Amino acid sequence: MPEQSASGDDVHYSFVIPVFNERAVLPSLFERLDALRQKLDGPAEFLMVDDGSRDGSVDVIRVKCGADEAYRLIKLSRNFGHQIAITAGIDQAQGQAVIVMDADLQDPPEVALDLIEKWREGFEVVSAKRIAREGETAFKRWTAHLFYRVLDRLTPVQIEKDVGDFRLMDRKFVDALCQMRERDRFVRGMVSWVGFRQTTVDYHRERRAAGETKYPLSRMMRLAADGIIGFSDIPLRMALWFGAIVSLAAMAFGLYVFAGWLFNATLVQGWASTVIILTFLGGVNLMMIGVAGLYVGRIYEQVKNRPLYIIDQDAKAKPSSEDASVDPKTQ
Ligand code: UDP
Ligand code: MG
Repeated sequence: MPEQSASGDDVHYSFVIPVFNERAVLPSLFERLDALRQKLDGPAEFLMVDDGSRDGSVDVIRVKCGADEAYRLIKLSRNFGHQIAITAGIDQAQGQAVIVMDADLQDPPEVALDLIEKWREGFEVVSAKRIAREGETAFKRWTAHLFYRVLDRLTPVQIEKDVGDFRLMDRKFVDALCQMRERDRFVRGMVSWVGFRQTTVDYHRERRAAGETKYPLSRMMRLAADGIIGFSDIPLRMALWFGAIVSLAAMAFGLYVFAGWLFNATLVQGWASTVIILTFLGGVNLMMIGVAGLYVGRIYEQVKNRPLYIIDQDAKAKPSSEDASVDPKTQ
């Protein structure tokens, strides 16, 4: 799967950077990465994973790849989503340490030096933990905060709070992670699941250098669902609890009716209570079918066993690679 290359084993650091319509930030990103590279204690490769951009990001990356052979373009055949784009990059990375970061400079590339320092101390995973988030709406900060707390309650796997996908992973760890081919990916949860020695480094999450977030609310909700459903079966088991509570309530109500009958109270008003109970039960039923459906849908996706992504083009410092059909490669 990983491509043989001239640099082969001596690539120390692989930077995996998912790109989706980031044309505006790419020039400053390259600048910052080049500056960072001077400070690294070993060679680096930069894998720019284009996740189906439609704004010409690919052309900008191609030019960079043509000029600098440390850069590699992995162009996916369409938009597969952030988590899959990261996966594609990690699969292709060859370094002894793989560092994943966003393209929009919200993850300052310089923090990689701190990550590397910890890695040198012997940790297999060093995640960057946001102690401050700038330029994000109060709503996003609040929902993120809430999400991490809910996730913590629902899942048996300890998932570090306020940690996104900005992290360094050792080769040994990456090899383990690459074996996990689940479709609905919540990479940060999978990272916790794999284990090894993990630690965090604090950083300030900056505002986006340019462009807009590619995570609208709907995508955030999908990611949250992947996190919870992928790592917990508590929502499924909620059916049991709901069922038990409703049955108990029904029994209590039955006793109440029985007592009323014993003491000859007039009990004919029944319409409202009947309708309320029926609709309530109908609602609980539908909801639990829906929850089961969420799991079944994911099982279905998994069973189809399609590849996680399709690579349209994998270009590395070729003399000229402007043709999109060069070297099509499916993974
Ligand atoms: N991204 C991607 N595919 C997508 C959405 C986002 O590759 O479908 C990339 C995006 O280009 C960026 C990173 O994932 O490098 C994080 O996205 P974004 O900054 O929009 O998310 P936010 O920081 O707002 O949570
Ligand atoms: Mg961002």
